[in-house]
Amino acid sequence: MLEKILDLSKKLISYPSVTSNYQALKSVLEEALKPLKEEGLTIESFERNQKPSVLIYQGNKRPKRFRLIFNGHLDVVSGKESQYRPFEKQGRLYGRGAIDMKSACAVLILVFKNVVKKINYPLALQLVTDEETGGFNGTKYQIEKGVRADFVIAGEPTDFGINNKAKGIIWMKVKTKGISAHGAYPWNGENALLKAQKIIEKIYRVYPLPKKESWQTTFNLARIETPNLTFNKVPAEATIFFDIRYIPEEFKNKSFKIGKKTFEKKIKKIIGADEEKEIILFEPPQFTEEKNSFILNLKKSIKNILKKNSKIIIKHGGSDIRHFNQVSCPGITFGPIGGGLHSDEEWIDIKSLEYYYKILEDYVFRLKSESVET
Ligand SMILES: [Zn+2]
Repeated sequence: MLEKILDLSKKLISYPSVTSNYQALKSVLEEALKPLKEEGLTIESFERNQKPSVLIYQGNKRPKRFRLIFNGHLDVVSGKESQYRPFEKQGRLYGRGAIDMKSACAVLILVFKNVVKKINYPLALQLVTDEETGGFNGTKYQIEKGVRADFVIAGEPTDFGINNKAKGIIWMKVKTKGISAHGAYPWNGENALLKAQKIIEKIYRVYPLPKKESWQTTFNLARIETPNLTFNKVPAEATIFFDIRYIPEEFKNKSFKIGKKTFEKKIKKIIGADEEKEIILFEPPQFTEEKNSFILNLKKSIKNILKKNSKIIIKHGGSDIRHFNQVSCPGITFGPIGGGLHSDEEWIDIKSLEYYYKILEDYVFRLKSESVET
């Protein structure tokens, strides 16, 4: 099996499937589908804004809800020309997308092919081409078209850790207004920059800067702007730009559906209602309970194959799983061992691909013997 996995991984890596290269996205997807073509499976095709994606399953009609979806992205961040020529060296396979995440896709495709007809529950394989640019036209688009699952596994790199949560992102601008005056008579004015400074202090009081990596919401002041360009004037206007990375526990509610409105209320409480605020980007976090039965079962499969306990890990950046979480579909990222993500030296541990295959195979059959929950 490892030979087949390696062969397919190399083929997938050889396409420069950066998100702007529509032709390469189509070709890499076609290549990925080749092993599944003669299987009599349904291959549902989707496309929005030149981002093609597919959903593959058994049977003519898409079930309302799959029990399990394997999710993989075939797009990559741009790389050097040579990185599209994969090569093996000392037990590693090098190339753009080796770990993020074309080799994992190769495993997902081959596991899916070999198990889909041997199980008694609906399983799907979802292959998309825009994860690196947010997943809005791939995974999210398919969700908008009604694709749902009890659990989703995205094969992002985790070194066999189970990643159940990731932070959300908020980019925001706050404008403060003051009253302009001559610099020699500051008491006649109201300094907008000083107002901005007070706001910054208030936010840092709620979200202090951690000294080292920690699972907490962080605030980064990115920029302060004022149209005032002289020394002798009290600035009448200032704008602060900031980036908040928030943990899902921050807005804990039953479903973890976190909308802009929830955040707007919170920020109003912190800095007051007067200032003009604008949210530039709002990305939900990723969150699935550690006690989720699908996670517990995956732990058993990992233990069974690797002969050691698995770890739950957190990530500071998100994945396509967050889109599923927003429609109450739990999920995780779980992938093989590798390194050099997005760098010139991206690699995957070849042996780990075989383990990855075996874990997923064990897992799919393990779910078969579990009673179906609704
Ligand atoms: Zn990725």
